[in-house]
Amino acid sequence: MTKTADAIIIGTGVIGTAVAFELAKLGWKTLSVDRNAKAGHGSTAGSCAIIRMHYSTFDGTAFAWEGYHYWRDWAEYLQAPADEALAKFIECGCLVMKTEGNGQLEKHMVNSRDLGCPYEEWDADQIAAKLPIYALDSFAPAKRRDDPGFGQPNGGRIGGAVFWPKAGYVTDPALSSQNLGNAAARHGAAFRMKAEVAEILQSGGRATGVKLADGEELHAPVVINVAGPASARINAMAGVLEDMTISTRALRQEVVHVPAPEGFDFEANGTIVSDSDIALYCRPEHGNHILVGSEDPPCDAHEWVDDDTDYNREFSDQWTVQALRYGQRVPSLGIPSQARGVVDLYDASTDWIPIYDKSALPGFYMACGTSGNQYKNAPIAGKMMAALVAYCEAGNDHDSTPLSFDLPYIGKTVDVGFYSRKRPVNAESSFSVLG
Ligand SMILES: Cc1cc2nc3c(=O)[nH]c(=O)nc-3n(C[C@H](O)[C@H](O)[C@H](O)COP(=O)(O)OP(=O)(O)OC[C@H]3O[C@@H](n4cnc5c(N)ncnc54)[C@H](O)[C@@H]3O)c2cc1C
Repeated sequence: MTKTADAIIIGTGVIGTAVAFELAKLGWKTLSVDRNAKAGHGSTAGSCAIIRMHYSTFDGTAFAWEGYHYWRDWAEYLQAPADEALAKFIECGCLVMKTEGNGQLEKHMVNSRDLGCPYEEWDADQIAAKLPIYALDSFAPAKRRDDPGFGQPNGGRIGGAVFWPKAGYVTDPALSSQNLGNAAARHGAAFRMKAEVAEILQSGGRATGVKLADGEELHAPVVINVAGPASARINAMAGVLEDMTISTRALRQEVVHVPAPEGFDFEANGTIVSDSDIALYCRPEHGNHILVGSEDPPCDAHEWVDDDTDYNREFSDQWTVQALRYGQRVPSLGIPSQARGVVDLYDASTDWIPIYDKSALPGFYMACGTSGNQYKNAPIAGKMMAALVAYCEAGNDHDSTPLSFDLPYIGKTVDVGFYSRKRPVNAESSFSVLG
């Protein structure tokens, strides 16, 4: 059996290419395999690519605050040649409405304060000054369109918000994967596109490579599952589902693109807004558009998908519901008759916190369950996965003695066991895309 590589990475999304880059920098000969023709054309391409720092857990906040710095220093991080077209990070800030549901953001502010991540508390006047198109009536809880109370304010008002000034978004998420792929290739990483993994090869109780759909075998002592919404299928192929307390599942999502109301330049003067009162988040988009995603309120049906290659890619009533909910906040919003935006899949985990871990099969690793909120963390997740693989392959038992990992920018150490596949469900999670 000829070894093709030291490690085979399944998936060339933003996290898969970051894992390739970080392992290649450590001297590993990596081979990334993807069924798509181009890197970043899985769920990464559909991402809103919001880089925010507010998470309900301390570990989640630390990881995201660390993650921000790589986007800020993108060209330097990649060591990219001057003529390479790079994805851009737009640092427009993120405003999060205080609501009963998010505990008035008390926990989030404590996490940020403890980590030295800047934030500002705003009152209603400051919100109105930043976003003059916003009406601050409260509509919580979010309702279905057939509920007689849909669109009716509840009599309360949004009283305040927290603004995280360092937050922003990346203009072209697929390009950011390609940037990472190019950076990895400069360190010797190889890529096999249009190659679908059909089987995880095993021998003597460990992973030994992958078999492609056309029958070709690729051999390596390490295989890493970074297959996004296909992660559960790949884990099933490896036979590693049994010892996992946290499972992953593909969840269908619709993102609305609407023009900003006339007379307000949302692209230049707007901000990212997370608004649990109407169960939506939004961000500025090119051409003075606004991109509106859902925070998945309990009243909306969750559409779980068994086959991530075969699902409804058309807009549904969910698009209209999201647009109308945003119209509750922005009364001057014009809702186009033709739906535009994105239909894609999250790889949602049981507690909406990712799994960055080894598995029950020696040599087989997983970076999955990214739950609609790990784009921002791709570079640091790649670095942590590379350290985890090196730690385990050196003979350490990460299950019994979890790896401690230093976050280089913010100078904190995290227990990688936080992301274990075998953890108890994390009760501190928001159990939503907010993580
Ligand atoms: C609508 C939407 C909005 C989002 N918004 C945000 C946001 O604002 N901020 C944020 O931080 N995160 C966000 N996310 C989440 C973020 O985009 C994802 O966590 C991230 O892109 C996942 O990257 P990945 O590399 O793990 O997976 P992917 O990009 O899905 O890549 C997986 C790759 O694996 C390949 N693959 C799968 N199966 C096989 C197989 N059998 N053989 C070969 N190749 C295979 C696929 O072709 C694909 O290219 C959002 C996600 C979605 C869907």
